[in-house]
Amino acid sequence: MPDAAPSLPTVAQALRQALAQGLARIDAQVLLLHVMGRATHERAWLLTHDDQVLTQAQAQRYADLCTQRLDAVPVAYLTGRKEFFGLPLRVDARVLDPRPDTETLVEWALELLPENSPARVLDLGTGSGAIALAVQSQRPQAQVLAADASAAALTVAQANAQALQLPVQFVQSDWLAQVSGHFDLILSNPPYIREDDPHMHALRHEPRQALTSGADGLDDIRTIAQQAPAHLPPGAWLLLEHGWDQAEAVQTILRHAGFAAVGSRQDLAGQWRCTGGQWPGPAPTNPTAPTPKQTMK
Ligand code: GLN
Repeated sequence: MPDAAPSLPTVAQALRQALAQGLARIDAQVLLLHVMGRATHERAWLLTHDDQVLTQAQAQRYADLCTQRLDAVPVAYLTGRKEFFGLPLRVDARVLDPRPDTETLVEWALELLPENSPARVLDLGTGSGAIALAVQSQRPQAQVLAADASAAALTVAQANAQALQLPVQFVQSDWLAQVSGHFDLILSNPPYIREDDPHMHALRHEPRQALTSGADGLDDIRTIAQQAPAHLPPGAWLLLEHGWDQAEAVQTILRHAGFAAVGSRQDLAGQWRCTGGQWPGPAPTNPTAPTPKQTMK
């Protein structure tokens, strides 16, 4: 019997090979589930089907995805999917891969937004739409506007809004330059990595304009802090995500821009990840009292 073709791997063998190549176990599992047409949460399926043999096409596709992952392509780009705040998003190289760290920013926003209130919310640099869509899904009455300078990113975000049937509005804008109106809450996960940060090499497949912002990483945060007050009535809030070592610098930027009640929040990993402030004014607000879970730093 002629037997020239190499034998095809089982599920268990394919996973073992991927791990031996250096893939993280979770990545090897998620990519194999994707190739096998299963959902990411079906990891138990890999155990119950460990002796299932891959087809030639599946084996080829898996080998190709593993090679790309070893070249630091985000798993989300390879599967085309990422879950953020419980929402299934479509993502690709036109937008930043949404991070779980950013859920801290959404949680803070939700504490500030009363339920069943038509609050006006603006998400700057929306990318995939993750933040705006998460807020809209949790606060159906809110009027959420999402802005991005990138037309390509807006295409991705609008498709996500459509797929999730969430009524977020979109505008192409360089930060607030093309935005009009006032908002009860402006929030953003802007680029904040230093241009010469060695960490950038590992992020080389993501849009650079979504990641770096000048020599100290704070150029865009300074711009937002300067532009936001014209769009904030007294008592409204500005919340920003930033790097693990930037909380103090961002607090200083916000105080200099005139914000009150400036404070920071830690992400799940314990890094100071978000800083926010309230625009002061004559409205019935109490700017010295942070919301209960807010940590002052
Ligand atoms: N938190 C991301 C990282 O360091 C960067 C996201 C951003 O620049 N907004 O990988």
